[in-house]
Amino acid sequence: MDMKIGTSGIPPHFWESKYSKGKDCRLNMPFWIKDIGLNAYEVLYTYGARMREENALILKENVKKTDIWLTVHAAYYVVLTSPKEDVQERSVEELFKAIRLADIMDAHNVILHPGYNGDDSEKSYNRFVSNLKLVVKKMKEHGISKPKISPEIGGKKSQLGSLKDIIRICEDVEYTVPCIDWAHLHAREDGSLQNINRFNDIIINCESLFIIKEHKLNYYPFLMLEKK
Ligand SMILES: [Zn+2]
Repeated sequence: MDMKIGTSGIPPHFWESKYSKGKDCRLNMPFWIKDIGLNAYEVLYTYGARMREENALILKENVKKTDIWLTVHAAYYVVLTSPKEDVQERSVEELFKAIRLADIMDAHNVILHPGYNGDDSEKSYNRFVSNLKLVVKKMKEHGISKPKISPEIGGKKSQLGSLKDIIRICEDVEYTVPCIDWAHLHAREDGSLQNINRFNDIIINCESLFIIKEHKLNYYPFLMLEKK
C-alpha cells in the first residue's frame, strides 16, 4: 500500500522555518512538508473556504513541484444534517466553495464532518444525503469530478458518522470515498481498536466498497488518518 503521511493545517514548527517569510508564506507549506520528509498536506478551512483563486493556483504549482498529496478539510460549520433550511443552504454553498477551490488546487479529497444526528437518525441521514446530492449536482454543472468528497467518521455517538453510516453514504452518493479517522472511530466505539482484527475488518469493509464503486486501486490510500 502506498502511504501518504503529512499534516493538517500549519503546525507551529513551520513558523520557525525559512519558508515562513512574506505575506502569503502559507503557500510554501508543500516545500516545508517535503523538507521534513513527509508527503501529504491538508488545507484546513476550519472557519470557511477563504482563499483567492490566484493563491489556489500558486498552491497547485507548489504541490506539483514537490509531489505532495493534497487534500482539503471543509469548514466545521458545514452541517448538512441540520433541520434548519437556511443552515442547509449555507452548508451546501460552503461545501461547494471548498470543493471548487480543491479543484483549482488539484486536490484529491475534500474532508467533511457529517454533522449531528438529532432525535431521528434516519431523518438526519436522509437530509444529509439529499443535501450532499445537491452538492454533487453543482459539481457536475461546473464540470468538477476530481476531488472526491470524503465524509469523516465522527468521534461522538450523537453525530452522524459511524463506520456503517460512512459506508452507506458512500454507497448512496456519487463522488464520495470514506475518510476513516481512526482516533474518532476508537472513541466512538468505546475503544474498539484493540487488535489487528478490527483494523482488518474496517479495511475489508472499505475495500469491498471501492470494488462496488469501481474505483481504481490508487484510490485505496484514501483511508486517512487524521491526527488532531
Ligand atoms: Zn475532521
